[in-house]
Amino acid sequence: MSGEGGAGPHGSGEGRRGGSAGTRNGDPGARRRRIVAGNWKMHLLAAAAAGFCAEVRRSLAAADRVAPTAASLDRGARVQVVLFPSFPLIPAVVRDLAGSEVEVGGQDLHPAERGAHTGDVSAPQLADAGCLWALCGHSERRRDHGESDELIGRKVAAAARHGLTPVLCVGETLEQREAGETFAVLERQLRTGLAAHPVAAGTAGVLAAGTAAALVVVAYEPVWAIGTGLTASPETAQEAHDFLRRGICSATGAAAGGVTLLYGGSVTPANAAGLIAQPDVDGFLVGGASLDPGQFLAIIACSG
Ligand code: PEP
Repeated sequence: MSGEGGAGPHGSGEGRRGGSAGTRNGDPGARRRRIVAGNWKMHLLAAAAAGFCAEVRRSLAAADRVAPTAASLDRGARVQVVLFPSFPLIPAVVRDLAGSEVEVGGQDLHPAERGAHTGDVSAPQLADAGCLWALCGHSERRRDHGESDELIGRKVAAAARHGLTPVLCVGETLEQREAGETFAVLERQLRTGLAAHPVAAGTAGVLAAGTAAALVVVAYEPVWAIGTGLTASPETAQEAHDFLRRGICSATGAAAGGVTLLYGGSVTPANAAGLIAQPDVDGFLVGGASLDPGQFLAIIACSG
């Protein structure tokens, strides 16, 4: 960790993380950490964000979802909830969620620690603002800003260096799927995206399973399903997740078998249950439905 990086108002993330990662490759009685993350993109103004946080916080506490009892922890029922607001909203959202178990992340970051990069935000700045997470390689960044796999790999590494858990987003376009290129695209995006991360830098073999799993999250987000109302079927999602899990394991060693794999692409309360029932779907990255507290809470409720 850089001296510039700080844990912010959430306190030290590392001490609160990694304990619930289980894997079929490791402890057969445990399960991988479940995560439901909301990507607000370029939506919401301060008042709406404050209202959202108040409602989610109240409802989650009432439902015992993120402040679980010892009994529910024993069942492995905990769902980690994460919000990705736009940069200007981050300080207020961190403040509004302080003391809850909901964590906050940045939607992007620059790979450098500081410097002349107008309009960009660094990993130490996100950490200093209270973030514990960073999205890397969202397809809208790849599309709008021409982000390459190599650049995304450097962002993943920068996040990890500063104590932010990177959520590496990968996924094929419709054209790539129709051309039979889905797995080649996923393999390339995964391999390059993780290339500079500690889990792929030759050290994974000596990491405990829980440690490796706490260091990175991968989100399968088929581009044709993002914001389109089209969702991958549970079988299609499972096929991609199974491929990605094998790729993570072979690139990093079996120690990374507990890495949480999220599905993203028009997830709603109506389709979440079928998706989460798949053995390699460990949670969701939610765009549109994360703007509505009722829908977001319903997705969390069925993900436990
Ligand atoms: C996303 O932004 O990552 C996403 C999956 O969006 P949506 O749920 O709206 O498809």
